[in-house]
Order: sequence, then structure tokens, then C-alpha cells
Amino acid sequence: MNYHVLTLFPEMIEQGLNTSILGKALDRDLISLEAVNIRDYTTNKHMKVDDYPYGGGAGMVMQAQPIYDAYKAVEKKIGYSPRVIYLTPQGKVFNQQMAKDFAREKDLVFLCGHYEGVDERVLEEIVTDEVSIGDYVLTGGELPAMVMIDAISRMVPAVLNNEESAEFDSFHDNLLEYPQYSRPETWNGKQVPPVLLSGHHANVEKWRREQSLIRTAIRRPDLLEKADLTAKEKVFVEKILANREGL
Ligand code: SAM
Repeated sequence: MNYHVLTLFPEMIEQGLNTSILGKALDRDLISLEAVNIRDYTTNKHMKVDDYPYGGGAGMVMQAQPIYDAYKAVEKKIGYSPRVIYLTPQGKVFNQQMAKDFAREKDLVFLCGHYEGVDERVLEEIVTDEVSIGDYVLTGGELPAMVMIDAISRMVPAVLNNEESAEFDSFHDNLLEYPQYSRPETWNGKQVPPVLLSGHHANVEKWRREQSLIRTAIRRPDLLEKADLTAKEKVFVEKILANREGL
């Protein structure tokens, strides 16, 4: 997976993604990351990349020319037209399924807006996907791009080792993950659930599955519609939902 991030602040991207699991994935060439400085592509003699909005109004708008040329340079380098994601609060809200889908691509281009946004004409010309990371407005697309790159990279084969496996993570099956515990057995007067100390693998799995169902029913009942549940589990969940008010 090769990420190409078109940005006015390349150092944010470079510094933000080179530690921990993603840092190791970069070192092992499982993913690559290129932060493309849009400013390097401006034809303006004062190196300007933004200007006032036509029609008036607050703030500045990123101009089409440097973004288009920065994109064209990436396209030329890789030899084909990749998916181009524009980070915008107006886009489809990002989720785990989208992370899985994007992880199948060979190259992904992220376009990070700033200020009031980007000239609509270049978006029409190069963008294939408009994605938001939630219903709030940030100062730029760099953090959203990093959020997406992190989530997508976890879906790239071998980025996570077995111990970090995404198999049981929240959202994997449209269920939230069960609660986790580590040493010591008693902390602050609170005991680890005894089943986790029993060494009985089947009972541990059963308890974890039940906890996942309970958590999802209480915290995110909207996910259950798409979850793959057995008939018995559906009855179990219905009971939790019926008693939810009392919990
Ligand atoms: N005026 C724009 C609007 O109302 O749609 C918002 C511009 S915002 C201040 C600047 C840039 O931050 C956007 O172009 C976008 O790239 C990024 N951005 C802000 N919030 C975002 C979000 N929730 N998800 C993805 N990108 C976001």
C-alpha cells in the first residue's frame, strides 16, 4: 500500500505516522508514505497557493492549479489514475468497512484541504471519494488523512502481528469488543472476572462473545442490524434490549 498525501503541511504527516506499529510497517516496506508539498507545484511567483473566495466571504480558498499539478505528478510517477480521497466534513462518514475496502488498493492519494476549503473545479477534476471523519469541523485535512491511514494500514496484511490481530476488534463483526483485563488479578479492590482465570478456553470464548453482545446492545444497538448472530444470540440480544432501560 502506497499513500501519497497532498498537503500544505508535509511535516505534520511525516512526523505523525512514523512511530509505533505504522513506523514499523514503514520500516518493513509493508506501506510507504509520500507527503507531497502542494506549494512546490505553484506557478505563482510569490509561491501563493490560496486566494480570496469569489462572491466574497470569510477566509481563503486553496487554488486549483497547484493541487492539480501535484496530483498529476503522482499520477505520472505511478503510471495510472489512483483513487483520490478528498478529506471534507461534507463527505461520507468513514467507518471500518471503508477502511477494509480502501486497503485493497495499491496506491491511495489523500487531498488535505485547509482554510475555507478547495476550489470546487479541481475537486470535480481529480477526486474519486469524499470522506469525512465525523460531524465536526477541523482546521485541515491532515489529521483526518492520518486517522484514515492508520485505520486502513491495520487492514493491510502483515501490518498487525498475530497478537495485535484485528479479528476481534470492535466493528470487525459489527460488534464492539469485549472488555479486556491484565495483571494483577486484583487492582483497587476490583477482581478480574473469574472465567478469564479458569484456563477453560471454550468458556472464555463464550463469555467474551456474550460481553460483546451485551456491550453492543447497550452502547451501539444500531450496529446489531448488520451483525451476524445465531438464532439463540438474537433472543439473548432481544432480552438485553428489552431490559436496557434498567441498566
Ligand atoms: N468550509 C468547509 C466546509 O464548511 O465544508 C470546511 C473547511 S475546513 C475549516 C478546512 C479543511 O479541513 C477541509 O477542506 C477539509 O480538508 C478538512 N476537514 C475539516 N473537518 C473535517 C472532517 N470532519 N473530516 C474530514 N476533513 C475535514
